[in-house]
Amino acid sequence: MVMGVSTAVLIVMIEDEAQIRRFVRMVLEGEHYVVVEAESGRRGLIEVGTRRPDLLVLDLGLPDVDGIELIRDVRSWSKLPILILSARGSEAEKVAALDAGADDYLTKPFGVPELLARVRALLRRAACPSADEPNVVRFGTVEVNLLHRLVTRNGQMVHMTALEYRLLVQLLSNAERVLTHQTLLRDVWGPNHITKQHYLRVYMAHLRHKLEQDPNRPKYFLTESGIGYRLTLQESAGCGG
Ligand code: CA
Repeated sequence: MVMGVSTAVLIVMIEDEAQIRRFVRMVLEGEHYVVVEAESGRRGLIEVGTRRPDLLVLDLGLPDVDGIELIRDVRSWSKLPILILSARGSEAEKVAALDAGADDYLTKPFGVPELLARVRALLRRAACPSADEPNVVRFGTVEVNLLHRLVTRNGQMVHMTALEYRLLVQLLSNAERVLTHQTLLRDVWGPNHITKQHYLRVYMAHLRHKLEQDPNRPKYFLTESGIGYRLTLQESAGCGG
């Protein structure tokens, strides 16, 4: 899959700090993305509404609007991938932003490889029109057949309990997104279990044990410390079929 190079991918960036805008623009333009800057939330909403970009990079600390409200606003009419920029130590803010519909976050200060990896992953996810429900998803040597509810690894059948499978499917259908503990607990276990983070820890360990080559150094089932989890299908992943 060719991504972001041959076609003009448009990214709107809402960030009030000029220095960060310059940095992000330089990095993204270096990869031939087209970048539109907005230094306020109001301006940014206009740019998003009129230009219909492929990705929104959003600083949560804006002078004129609440970043969380802005995410809700955009989410009410668009599935546009949203990558948030957040200050270090503001885990609660990140969780609120993710629960409001943001897809991923970067903690300032962040580096070039980190920024580009997140951007690529979100664009890749958005580029798969059936990414929400492909029949077969592959990562590494794992193949998940969603139609027949079959999981194999290295061609061998992997036995999954109902809950493990439900958690896996939830992660798969939101691949590349960061899912908060609360969101995962609500969607997999139900609304009465949103505080039971130990369930998640146990079941994520099961998934890693069954599907990762080295469960202690997971490549796919990633922990977002203090926030939640992310399943990344990485560069090799296709759109499924
Ligand atoms: Ca700011």
